[in-house]
Amino acid sequence: MADCLFCKIVAGDIPAAIVHRDDALVAFRDINPQAPFHVLIVPRAHVATLNDLTPDRDALVGSMARLAARLARDAGHAERGYRTVFNCNADAGQTVWHIHMHLLAGRRLAWPPG
Ligand code: AMP
Ligand code: ZN
Repeated sequence: MADCLFCKIVAGDIPAAIVHRDDALVAFRDINPQAPFHVLIVPRAHVATLNDLTPDRDALVGSMARLAARLARDAGHAERGYRTVFNCNADAGQTVWHIHMHLLAGRRLAWPPG
């Protein structure tokens, strides 16, 4: 999608600290990290919010969760723990309208979130 920040990162038009890329997903460091390890996992395909997901994307979303677990493990956070978050729309604080899974680790994370 022409005006989408994460589509531009996926396409390589805007630089990012990429930690993983494959045919379907790209993962990169959040520019404003909220934990010592904060990665965003995004599909190459443009989907604006969780509300826009359709059943044909079920495997894609599953692969996002499995990639999060793999990246957390590879970074040494699997045992102590980590958090994955999708923010959807304004009340949740979504600011980029291209779905992304936040992967946060490296500190004790409060619950409930703010
Ligand atoms: P959300 O608020 O859930 O939509 O998350 C969007 C996230 O994208 C925020 O945590 C931002 O810090 C992050 N972000 C915005 N621009 C960039 C960028 N150019 N590179 C990496 N992360 C970004
Ligand atoms: Zn996009």
